[in-house]
Amino acid sequence: MQRPTTILELLAIGASDAIAISAPGVTPLTYGQLRLTSAQTEQSLRSIGIGAQDRVALVLPNGPEMAVAFTCIAAHAAAAPLNPAYRADEFEFYLSDLNAKAILVEHGSQSPAIAIAQKLNLQILELHPSGHGAGSFTLTAQQPVMNTASADMPTSNDLALILHTSGTTSRPKIVPLTQANVCASACNVRDNLHLSASDCGLAIMPLFHIHGLIAGLLAPLAAGGQIFCTPGFNALRFFNWMNEAKPSWYTAVPTMHQTIVARAESNREIIQANPLRFIRSSSSSMPPQVIHALEQVFNAPLIESYGMTEAAHQMASNPLPPAKRIPGSVGIAAGPEIAIMDTDGNLLENGATGEIVIRGVNVTAGYENNPKANAEAYTNGWFRTGDQGVLDQDNYLSITGRLKEIINRGGEKISPREVDEILMDHPAVAQVVTFGMPHEKLGEEVAAAVVLREGQQVSEKELREFVAIRLSDYKVPRKILFLEEIPKGATGKLQRIGLAAKLGLA
Ligand code: ATP
Ligand code: MG
Repeated sequence: MQRPTTILELLAIGASDAIAISAPGVTPLTYGQLRLTSAQTEQSLRSIGIGAQDRVALVLPNGPEMAVAFTCIAAHAAAAPLNPAYRADEFEFYLSDLNAKAILVEHGSQSPAIAIAQKLNLQILELHPSGHGAGSFTLTAQQPVMNTASADMPTSNDLALILHTSGTTSRPKIVPLTQANVCASACNVRDNLHLSASDCGLAIMPLFHIHGLIAGLLAPLAAGGQIFCTPGFNALRFFNWMNEAKPSWYTAVPTMHQTIVARAESNREIIQANPLRFIRSSSSSMPPQVIHALEQVFNAPLIESYGMTEAAHQMASNPLPPAKRIPGSVGIAAGPEIAIMDTDGNLLENGATGEIVIRGVNVTAGYENNPKANAEAYTNGWFRTGDQGVLDQDNYLSITGRLKEIINRGGEKISPREVDEILMDHPAVAQVVTFGMPHEKLGEEVAAAVVLREGQQVSEKELREFVAIRLSDYKVPRKILFLEEIPKGATGKLQRIGLAAKLGLA
């Protein structure tokens, strides 16, 4: 298959009369119509002075309009999708940091981003759905515009996408990604999953995060296939969407998969009537128990992949059958080169644990406005992921933890994932997150929060004894909380850092 280096080239792959974008209850949009919308978007942007190098912030709810607007803007300028649920202060931080020229909102939007954009003198663009198929729209500017921009096309080195990291371990960092970075990653995902024009992906991931934008949207477009765009994950509607879209696959984060598994029993008929070719998981680690349950319920392989914003998403992935996939491993390099590095910058042999480092066409050239983070992030041309892992003899990668999440108990280092894995093995436990809580003498002490399976009961003491059988005493959580739900970040990730404070333990 072709490997385009700009989004405009990527959009040229699908057949004109094939469906590109569909959505619940509306007429689909073909590739021909998508290309027309892209050409009209270019005209609108240039007529209001926005050129190939200018940045446009997108503050739109998830759904087909956001999918089409992102694609068409990123094809002709640099698109910066923001979480529409941000509060005014967050918009102020991101919009000032991004150096955007314009912001795009829905016509009639009440977003607090608008007042901030006015204060920062950004051009305000409005999106009007046009009814020519799922996600089609026209653009207008709120203020009269004096200047036009020249009709230059972005090259592969121009920026296509500006995102911030999820902020799991520190304040989110701004990651600029070029047309080449983004297209390489989309093609890596496409090729790894053997996506083709006959596939239909059910898009439930947020479109302000790299996982949804690359695996959910651009990878299927690079295959000329169909994307059924939902308003975002909703456990109650998931199986209705499956029934309507007849998807061949979907990609999601582990917390979503867990909710889907829990509801699968009562939706068995829909599942049986809609066989999936595979299911994909990325963005945080997938407990082997959930992989097993999902594969049983859907009778389809679960493909776990490893991604990050700085790599324009995918770095490693398990392959499709008949190749081997290993539960608990994120698979083999699936895009960039992957190696393991020690703290002195030396590359380690297979079997040794160290920091996972990557290099390749899909990796960003550096964070924006953050020289300190850049100085820490690159060593001898390798990008340091901040994740700790090990490659086995067949080059399958296992992530053993995040360097910043390691709990330091009076000098003894504990990987919270190791404790998670043990607790997940207890039959009463449905979800778990282990984290550090402040301790007067030791600095940090191990704590965990669990969600129990429906109708199950177990005491804190029993759980601690269960862990103590398999782990050294210092790794056993001193405190285990029972919760209805574990607090998550905007992209559905468990956030260990700061959790103690959120749960009243600090
Ligand atoms: P920040 O960098 O701001 O702390 P973040 O790292 O969570 O936030 P993302 O770029 O969204 O922001 O996430 C990338 C990280 O997610 C990876 O570095 C890794 O720690 C984790 N991750 C992604 N996929 C997996 C996976 N399959 N298994 C385990 N961890 C994963
Ligand atoms: Mg990160």
